[in-house]
Amino acid sequence: MRLLLIEDDPMIGEAVALALRGEGHAVDWVQDGAAGARALTAGAPYALLLLDLGLPGRDGLKLLADLRARGDRLPVLVITARDTVSDRIAGLDAGADDYLVKPFDLDELLARVRALARRAAGRAEPVLAHGRLRLDPATHSAWLGERPLHLSPREFALLQALLEKPGAVLSRAQLEERLYGWNEPVGSNAVEVHIHHLRRKLGERAIRNVRGVGWTLGELDPP
Ligand code: CA
Repeated sequence: MRLLLIEDDPMIGEAVALALRGEGHAVDWVQDGAAGARALTAGAPYALLLLDLGLPGRDGLKLLADLRARGDRLPVLVITARDTVSDRIAGLDAGADDYLVKPFDLDELLARVRALARRAAGRAEPVLAHGRLRLDPATHSAWLGERPLHLSPREFALLQALLEKPGAVLSRAQLEERLYGWNEPVGSNAVEVHIHHLRRKLGERAIRNVRGVGWTLGELDPP
């Protein structure tokens, strides 16, 4: 998934971004409220916003209120040192989906990110499936039948994007936006290379190219 992190504390921001990237997410990190507001209106396909409240430039609660006032339903996880009950109520009332008080455990943050992503996708069932292919974003594991698949974080993210929208054709730009953040260089054929590797692991017909449009899930070879 591609995530936006708005956090001014360099140590916390660094640690959170690193943990999220370790799970294979693309993370855009901005460190003040004004940059956060710009990022939120720039049109990147974020799956989730991690939002600190005490920010230079513009308060996080104001950013959140503006986001909801625009009708944007982006899932928001507030991460903040403001821990009074009234602060939490204000955050949730302003439209936050979840609330984590600093200092927090990074594993708990990652678990909450997964839970919010599942909820946003309208899935109670955490495992994604397509025929014999199963993908568990919580544990980052994948199987073809009973056989575990060894996927790189980007291969996993690409496959997850396709499985989340069965039947949809995703363009190169859509896949690149899901897989890479701002500062990450994208090779001109990066998506093709990941798809090539996935086909070797899943079968040549598993990902179908729709000429001039993009890629969609295809058929799995019989066991
Ligand atoms: Ca702060």
